[in-house]
Amino acid sequence: MPDASHGPVARQLDVAIVGGGLAGLYAIHRLRSQGLRVRAYEAGSGVGGTWFWNRYPGARCDVESLEYSYSFSDELQQEWQWPERYGTQPEILRYINHVADRFDLRRDVQLNTRIVAAVFDEAANQWLLETADGEKIEARYCVMAAGNLSTPRVPDFPGLGSFRGKWYHSGLWPHAGVDFTGLRVGVIGTGSSGVQMIPIIARQARHLHVFQRTANFSLPARNAPMDPVRERNHKAEYPARRRAAADTPFAIAGHAKPTKSALDVAEAERNAAYEAKWQEGGSISYLYAYTDLLVNKQSNDTASEFVRNKIRATVKDKRTAELLAPKDHPIGTKRLCLDTDYYETYNRPNVELIDVRSDPIAAITSTGLRTEGGQTFELDAIVFATGFDAMTGALREIDVRTSTGAVLRDHWEGGPLTYLGLMMSGFPNMFVVTGPGSPGVKTQMIASIEQHVDWIADCIGHMRREGFERIEASSQAELDWVHHVNTVADSTLYPLANSWYMGANIPGKPRVFMPYVGGFDRYKRHCDTIAARGYEGFKLSKQKTRVGP
Ligand SMILES: Cc1cc2nc3c(=O)[nH]c(=O)nc-3n(C[C@H](O)[C@H](O)[C@H](O)COP(=O)(O)OP(=O)(O)OC[C@H]3O[C@@H](n4cnc5c(N)ncnc54)[C@H](O)[C@@H]3O)c2cc1C
Repeated sequence: MPDASHGPVARQLDVAIVGGGLAGLYAIHRLRSQGLRVRAYEAGSGVGGTWFWNRYPGARCDVESLEYSYSFSDELQQEWQWPERYGTQPEILRYINHVADRFDLRRDVQLNTRIVAAVFDEAANQWLLETADGEKIEARYCVMAAGNLSTPRVPDFPGLGSFRGKWYHSGLWPHAGVDFTGLRVGVIGTGSSGVQMIPIIARQARHLHVFQRTANFSLPARNAPMDPVRERNHKAEYPARRRAAADTPFAIAGHAKPTKSALDVAEAERNAAYEAKWQEGGSISYLYAYTDLLVNKQSNDTASEFVRNKIRATVKDKRTAELLAPKDHPIGTKRLCLDTDYYETYNRPNVELIDVRSDPIAAITSTGLRTEGGQTFELDAIVFATGFDAMTGALREIDVRTSTGAVLRDHWEGGPLTYLGLMMSGFPNMFVVTGPGSPGVKTQMIASIEQHVDWIADCIGHMRREGFERIEASSQAELDWVHHVNTVADSTLYPLANSWYMGANIPGKPRVFMPYVGGFDRYKRHCDTIAARGYEGFKLSKQKTRVGP
């Protein structure tokens, strides 16, 4: 535990921010504009978070870039030009670096600095953060902007250390890139990152083995160069479009709200609607075909089967097609992938799909990989597209505690407990951006990031104006909110999938549905109401020390 009484004098801040991705950068901008002394600490050697780390081939956003961008500055959104419908990783990183320069954010970002501990000193009423190098930082408030998908997970296969080839994780990709030309490559994992990289690696590799445990639904992205007319029209009404987006469940505008159940129309009409959405590309459009695709299994079956039939029509080898056609979860209940030629890639002679559900990977060997059933694969390179310890991983890696004995890892032992995904009871003056219990990962995330940072900044502004020293979520409000999050999830099909929303990809992680799926629009209204009612469910105190339960 850091101890303020020893070592060099700690840096004094109003707000310490953990993370220098889209959330951390906007938090600097917004909080600094209120005259606060802020500083963000970022483990990486550059800003950008997700877009700094995930440099694998084919990495790009799957929300259109005219939407997946900051809205806080109209000048910024008018002047920036996205060359394609969906920005590539290098393009998004270029954008984030532009934002850092344009708003002079870099002077308040400390790179190459990992926060390892954050301890709330009850007597001094402040957070004491410690970096991996032993630097100490004292701050009245702590804002966790450490990311939901920022803790890469390499599965614990025996023998990885003995592998004589090279291995990579999609979320820790070498900056110089990787040339797979002429190599025998194994990609493990077929989630969003796998689906994006597989078509590109297949074009380079001598042979590509794809090791699939669970098939995921993927829809065509229909990426294309930016249409200048579309861009002009969008920009002409940008503020109105942003407001319209805030009034939708996924914080994405431009899709007519569905009015009918999938079961209210004849099969031919329904399939024609799905076909139109399939041709249009994008995931929101498809899930918006009918009102009940995420709440009614029978309705969802029609949308799921349409995509399965597309896979069967595309992939020539029947066995491979059946393996690729997901049957263990309703479409949309796991993160829906967007691709360019993913299913077509399996028609290439140098690509082979291996089902590691029926015959799991037993070990990595010095020359490749072995399954429990005794199959062996000779590989020159292995790519782990195995995802992240999602939503709670980054915070659990930090030793978050209070001087009176509360420990965040213990508080979250049975699954993450938060009030609104914004604060945890027992941990005063610590805010989380898009934390578990918020709709963040189920939305266009930059909208959620801005909404959270604005709410936090307004809350701190309110406290300073009114002379409050500390704010904390009440334990009852936290319990009620977690109950509400679960009730809402249980009224949908989401819990039917073993997804990272549930922690299902991490052995031993509690199975709790983590995101709030009641919709961005409903959630934002709720957060605004809570604030307008004087921060209902939060305990605000003018004294520096704890009062009451
Ligand atoms: C491959 C991929 C594609 C995605 N595509 C989309 C998309 O199309 N649309 C969408 O809405 N969202 C997408 N996302 C989600 C994406 O994470 C968010 O959109 C957004 O980038 C999150 O920003 P953030 O700042 O909250 O977190 P991050 O970008 O994850 O940044 C968090 C930062 O905190 C740092 N950090 C963590 N712990 C510490 C510590 N202890 N000390 C110091 N620094 C720390 C990390 O190094 C990281 O740089 C995608 C995610 C991935 C992985």
